[in-house]
Amino acid sequence: MLKINQTIHSVVRAIDDHGSGVIFCGRDQVHVRQVLLGEEIEARVTKTIKGGYLGELVRIIKADPRRVKPLCPLTKRCGGCQMQHVAYPSQLEMKKQRIIDALKKTPLSLHVHDVQGMQDPYHYRNKMIIGFSRNNAGDIISGLYEESSHRIVSASTCLLHPKECDEVIATIVDLMKRLRIEPYDARRQRGFLRHAVIRYGVHTRQILVTLVTSERRFAVHKAFVQQLTSRHPAVKSIVQNINRRDTSVVLGKQEHILYGKGSIEDELLGKRFIISSSSFYQINHDQCERLYQKAYELLQLSGKERLLDAYCGIGTISLCVHEQAKEIIGVELNAKAVADARINARLNHVRNARFIQQDASAFMKQEAAHRQHYDAVIMDPPREGSTPLFLDACASLKPEKIVYISCDPFTQIRDLIYLKKKGYKAADMYLYDMFPMSDHVESVVLLRR
Ligand code: SAH
Repeated sequence: MLKINQTIHSVVRAIDDHGSGVIFCGRDQVHVRQVLLGEEIEARVTKTIKGGYLGELVRIIKADPRRVKPLCPLTKRCGGCQMQHVAYPSQLEMKKQRIIDALKKTPLSLHVHDVQGMQDPYHYRNKMIIGFSRNNAGDIISGLYEESSHRIVSASTCLLHPKECDEVIATIVDLMKRLRIEPYDARRQRGFLRHAVIRYGVHTRQILVTLVTSERRFAVHKAFVQQLTSRHPAVKSIVQNINRRDTSVVLGKQEHILYGKGSIEDELLGKRFIISSSSFYQINHDQCERLYQKAYELLQLSGKERLLDAYCGIGTISLCVHEQAKEIIGVELNAKAVADARINARLNHVRNARFIQQDASAFMKQEAAHRQHYDAVIMDPPREGSTPLFLDACASLKPEKIVYISCDPFTQIRDLIYLKKKGYKAADMYLYDMFPMSDHVESVVLLRR
């Protein structure tokens, strides 16, 4: 048994699934952020967790040559970045190597291509979730969350945010002080403003602010809207979302518009898109364009195909490629995203794409039962990957090609193994660094029947 605050001197023996280093002390495991495999470190035990302990890096005794000094002074505490202590080219190599290592334990033989990185790997996020709190002196602060915690790391800027958005956040804090808007305290379940979710159209420079509040009554909303929009004309819409529940899920179900249309627009590969507060939109605009282009290159459409876009979100994948297909059907669970997808089709004068609101697995099962024909399927499920139900039905529809996009190559690998048994073979995995400084990576794979 280790004691809290005990210091340990050891070599990092493994990296866990969250990118933290693991050091051993007898039989006990301590997980430490911001360290590299093989580094000799001193760490302080901070907390017990399932299966071991969390520790904080105290000092590095023998550093890995890939280590750099993080540009942000808060990386030790802030849960936003896991890899700022690694030189950017090495981050890309490490992301690739983790996948190669995972593939070694599988029956797949995939060629993993180099991760396509960004020229400027900062300021790329187009969605920001900000928390508010009071510090010990009683001042209102804003910032991001500590890793797996309710505590806020006070930060007035973040290297991953567009500068314009950090300025909007600073104004929100100022208005909270002036208009006496109380930050929500999750522990005491008191206060009003839980989060601000900022969405930014990289192309249009439009900003959508969603205020997540603990109750509907917002006495000073008029003054808030007037002052925020006059100071930041780029704020095109403000939405109030009400979340009364004791939960770590950010958005509640009830929402109303305080200003503007409740959405902003952005442009992706020359097409316009409406983005509202709750619908999914890829976090990294420029890398998303590169990823989609790769997916289309792999699909090689001729204009005659019937294409299925599963887990389609607001329809971006379909609508950017519709000229190259005869007919496209998109399926998505989130009703608001489907509504946006339909608006987006009209906005771009697209007539050969339809969007259906349904669970993708249930939809696939029904399409298989009705012996529908699709020439190709493009699928982009959430982090947990797809389901056996979806994959079985997909294989029985017998599309020639499946292009599988994933923000978690590890669940994707699980699904690729399943599809292999169903007669679908993949040869290459292409990787895009959608999330520089984090330990995540996006992948795209073509499967052929
Ligand atoms: N292809 C889109 C969205 C990908 S994110 C894009 O590139 O922008 C994954 C999407 O899957 C989200 O929009 C999410 O709402 C949706 N989703 C999650 N579970 C689902 C399910 N069971 N059935 C259908 N869609 C689902």
